Amino acid sequence: MSDILYEGKSKIVCCGIDGNTLLIRYKDTATAFNGGKKEELSGKGKLNAEISNFLFAHLEKRGIKTHLVKVIDDTSAIVKKAEIVMVEVIVRNVAAGSFSKKYGVPEGASLKNVVVEFSYKSDELGDPMLAESHITALGLATSEELEEMARQALKINEMLIDIFAKARIRLVDFKLEFGRCGGEIILCDEISPDSCRLWDMDTDKKLDKDRFRRDLGDVLGGYREVLERLKGIRD
Ligand code: UDP
Repeated sequence: MSDILYEGKSKIVCCGIDGNTLLIRYKDTATAFNGGKKEELSGKGKLNAEISNFLFAHLEKRGIKTHLVKVIDDTSAIVKKAEIVMVEVIVRNVAAGSFSKKYGVPEGASLKNVVVEFSYKSDELGDPMLAESHITALGLATSEELEEMARQALKINEMLIDIFAKARIRLVDFKLEFGRCGGEIILCDEISPDSCRLWDMDTDKKLDKDRFRRDLGDVLGGYREVLERLKGIRD
C-alpha cells in the first residue's frame, strides 16, 4: 500500500499517483456520536465506496465538479488533492436527527423549504452549527465560497432526490464536504449511507447509518439494498 498520509474515522488517505492526487481507501469501521460508538462492519468500506463512486460519477455527468479521478479497486479511488473547507454542508428535505431534536419536530415531518446549514468540521468541538458570520469571522471560508457551496449543495440535492426516487428511496438529509482545487470549489469526501438519511419510499424503513446509531440491526443489509437499488436503475 502507498504511504498513509492520514487516517480518518472511515477512510485512509494515502499518496496518489502524482503530487496533484491522493488515494483514498474506505474502511470497515463504523462510528457514531463523534466516535463514542465504534464497530467493525466487515464489507462496509466496499459498499460505501461503490455507492459513493456511483453517485459522484452520476453528479459529474450532470456538471458537478468532484474530486473523483479514477476507481482503483473495491475500496480505493484516486481523487484530486484539494484543500478541504472545514465547514460541513448539511441539506435537509425532511425533519430528522439533530434537527428534530433541536427544534421539537417529529422525524418525518415535511419542511416548508429545503434547509441548508453549516457546521464546523471539528471532532474536538463536536461539529457545532455555524452561522455565515461565524464562518467568515473564523476565516473558515469566504462569503463567496459559502454562497458557491450552498448553490452547489442545492443542485446536488435536486439530482440526488431524483436518482434516489428512481430507486424508491427518500433522501431525507445528507452532509457534503467541499474542497478548494485549482481556484474552484469541488465536491469532496463521500456520499453514502454513512452521510445520508435514506428511507424506503413505501415503508419508511431506514437504509442508512441510523441502523447503526440506533441499534436497529442488519446495518449492512440497508447499505446493500441502497447499492442494489441504485444499480438497478435504468436512466
Ligand atoms: N452527518 C454526517 N456527518 C456528521 C454529521 C451529520 O454525515 O458529522 C449527516 C447525517 O448522517 C445526516 C445529516 O448529516 O444524514 C444530518 O445529520 P444531523 O445533523 O441530523 O446529525 P445526527 O443526527 O447525524 O447527529
